[in-house]
Formats: sequence, structure tokens, C-alpha cells
Amino acid sequence: MVNSKGSGKGTQASKIQRDFGAIPISTGQILRNEVSSKSQLGKQAEKQMNAGGSFKQYDLHPLGLVEDSIMYKVIENQFNGETIRKQGWILDGFPRTVPQANQLDLVLSKLNQPLDYVLYLDVAEDIVYERIKDRLVHPGSGRVYNIAFNPPKVPGKDDITGEPLIKREDDDKETIRSRLLQYHNSTAPVLDYYKNAKKLVSIPSPTSDIGYVSIKDLLSKLVSK
Ligand code: AMP
Repeated sequence: MVNSKGSGKGTQASKIQRDFGAIPISTGQILRNEVSSKSQLGKQAEKQMNAGGSFKQYDLHPLGLVEDSIMYKVIENQFNGETIRKQGWILDGFPRTVPQANQLDLVLSKLNQPLDYVLYLDVAEDIVYERIKDRLVHPGSGRVYNIAFNPPKVPGKDDITGEPLIKREDDDKETIRSRLLQYHNSTAPVLDYYKNAKKLVSIPSPTSDIGYVSIKDLLSKLVSK
């Protein structure tokens, strides 16, 4: 799934896993786990992830994205597992640039794993802001809630583990603005890349439930082929 923050891609990936068994590969979540475990890769990625976190730093690091060489390692590690290849997968947050899309093509062709669709979740920017502003995350699993649209059963607690939910540090207004700018600079060309490859499917998603109706319909046709 190609998109910027707050488009609901994490929520849609979980629903796809529930209904179709495809395993979500969220590059953002993988990087956050690497950062918390203080691995070598996590230490390298952390500075670059934080670069998107404030406008001052944003001037120094115009995209606030983690560099491609690190992202390639992340992606190749994920596709090493047999289960992922057998069960099917859904990428959440990768590729975000055209070089990443080229690299993904290389990795997938080596593994003989064709890409079926690239889903573009089409959400108006003011809706993106509203969603992110009220977002809570379970740090261990990456499960996402929204105080207004998708609240946890017990306020402030994860539905499955009962552990506390947090607000992600990078979910503030400045970061959201900088990420939308980043999206227009670097991720929008990825849409053209997949449009040319005839893989792109645009999913109007004013709410995640409305978006998921179209996604489910599309994937049900794919699995019944
Ligand atoms: P996300 O949870 O998808 O919003 O990702 C959180 C952060 O991880 C992003 O703001 C980037 O700093 C980094 N990140 C995730 N995926 C990628 C990617 N494909 N390329 C570069 N950086 C990424």
C-alpha cells in the first residue's frame, strides 16, 4: 500500500490479514522495533526517522525518510521467511520512492513473487489530520486505535493485551504537515510508476470502513480467480 501517514494503511493491512491471511509487512513498525531494541540498524535509522519530526531538522533532511540502503536490508530480511512467501503478504509503507519501487521489483522477480496490486488509499488531507490527531498506538504490536473512530474497549488500554496505549511522538501537527509535503515530493511519483505498470488501484477512503469495502471486493475477485 502506497500512502502517507494517517491514510489508514495500518488498519487496512490488519483487516486484509484477518480476512485473507496475507501477512502485513509494515516497514514503519519494523523500524520502530529496531529502534526500541537498539540494534545497529535501529541506531542508524533512528536519526533519520527523527529528522521528519521537526521543521528545523526537516530543513537538514528534506525527506525525513530512512535511507534506501537500510530499507533494502529491511525488505530483503522480510522476504527471507518461507511463511511470508507461502501465505502471501501486504506491504504497508513500502515503497515510498521510485528507487525503492525498482528495488522491490528486483527482489520480487528473484523470488518469483508477482505483485498483484498496489492500493492507493485516497484520503483528503483534512481527514488525514483529524485521524492522526486522535490516534493511539499499542507499542508492542503496532495496533492502532482512534479516540473518535475506532476507540479501544477500555480507554487507554490495548484490546488484546490490556497494556497501555501511547500517542506516537511524531503524531503532532508540524510532523503531519511535513509528512504531507514529503509525500508530495517523493511518494507521488511512485503512483505514476505503478500506474504505468498497470498495478495501481485507487481506493477512495473517506473512512476506513468505506475504503475496506472496495479493498475486500477487489481481493475477493483476486482469490477466486
Ligand atoms: P510509518 O509508520 O509507515 O508512517 O513509518 C514511520 C517512519 O519510518 C517514516 O516516517 C520513515 O521515517 C520511516 N519509514 C517507514 N517506511 C519507510 C520507507 N519505505 N522508506 C523510508 N523510510 C521509511
